[in-house]
Amino acid sequence: MIWRTLLTLWLGAMLAACSATAQDGADQPALAEKRIALTFDDIPRHLGAFYDDDDKRAAHIIEALGDTQAAFFLNPDKNDERRGAEERIARYVAAGHVIANHTATHPQLRDTDTADYLADIDVAAEWMRDREGFRPWFRFPFLDEGGKDKIKRDAIRAGLIERGLTNGYVTVDASDWFYEQAAIDAKKAGRTINMDALGELYVESHIQSAEFTHGLSLKALGRAPAQVMLLHETDLAALYLDDLIAALKANGWTIVTADEAFADPIAQIHTDVPYAQGTLIESIAWERGLPAPRWYERNDTKIANELFRTRVLGLEPATDATPE
Ligand SMILES: [Zn+2]
Repeated sequence: MIWRTLLTLWLGAMLAACSATAQDGADQPALAEKRIALTFDDIPRHLGAFYDDDDKRAAHIIEALGDTQAAFFLNPDKNDERRGAEERIARYVAAGHVIANHTATHPQLRDTDTADYLADIDVAAEWMRDREGFRPWFRFPFLDEGGKDKIKRDAIRAGLIERGLTNGYVTVDASDWFYEQAAIDAKKAGRTINMDALGELYVESHIQSAEFTHGLSLKALGRAPAQVMLLHETDLAALYLDDLIAALKANGWTIVTADEAFADPIAQIHTDVPYAQGTLIESIAWERGLPAPRWYERNDTKIANELFRTRVLGLEPATDATPE
C-alpha cells in the first residue's frame, strides 16, 4: 500500500515536471519527448542496386531531407573512387547540412594500430578543416571504439580530445547497410525484388529501432535524450527516406538538427563497459546494469536476412534460421 502511494506521488511529480517543462520554455524538451537527428555515413559511398548516377541519388536524399539539418560523415580518401564526390558534398552543405570526420579510409579500429588510426583521422581532418559546414565530430567506422582493448580505447579517446574532436556517436541503428547489400546481391543473382516490401522493411526496422532505443533511454536515463539515427549514403536512403521521415513523424517523433542532438548531455557520458562498440544508449544501459537485450534485435543479420528473403524476395523461410 505504501508503495502504491509512493508510486502515485512519484508519478504525479513526474507529470507535474513534464507539464511544467512544456509550459516553461520552448527550448526545454519534455522528459519523454521523442526527438531524433538523421546522420549519414561513408560519403562518398558506392552505388547500390537501383541507381546508376551518384548525382541523382544525392539529389533524392537532399530532396527527402527538406530543411532540417542532417550530418554527413565523410571518408575523403574515397573521393577519387566516386567522380564528383567533392561537388556532391558541397551540395549537401549548400542544402543546410553539416559534414564531419569518419576517417580518411574507413579502417576498423581492432585491426589498426592506434597511431595509424589517429593519422587516418588527421588526413580526413585536414581535408575538411576549413570547409563550410564542418563540425568537429568523429564517427567511429563500424562503431568500433576499441572493443575489449581498454588501452586502445582510452588512447583514441585522448587522441580525439587532443584534436578538438568529440564522439559523433549513434543511438539508433537498424543495419541499413545490410539491406543495401542484400539488394545488390539479389539483383546480381537475378532475383525479383519486391520494392514495396523492401521500402516497408526499411522503414519499419528503423522505426522499431528508434522506439526500442527510446524505451531503453527512459529506463537507463529517466528521460528521452535527442536520439541520433545511423544511416548511410545508400540507394535505399534515396528511395525510402521520405517514407521513413513521414513514418517517424506519424509515430510522434520530431526530426531535430544534428547540432541539437550532439548538444544533448549524453554527449558528455564516456562509459566504461567490457566491450566498446555499438550505440551510446546500449553502452549507458550496460554500465547502469540494465538487463539484455540492450540492442535492437534486427541488428542480428541472421534475423534481418530471413526478413529480407521472405518478405522482399518471396522465398521460403530458411529452415536453419529459426530465431533462438
Ligand atoms: Zn562507415
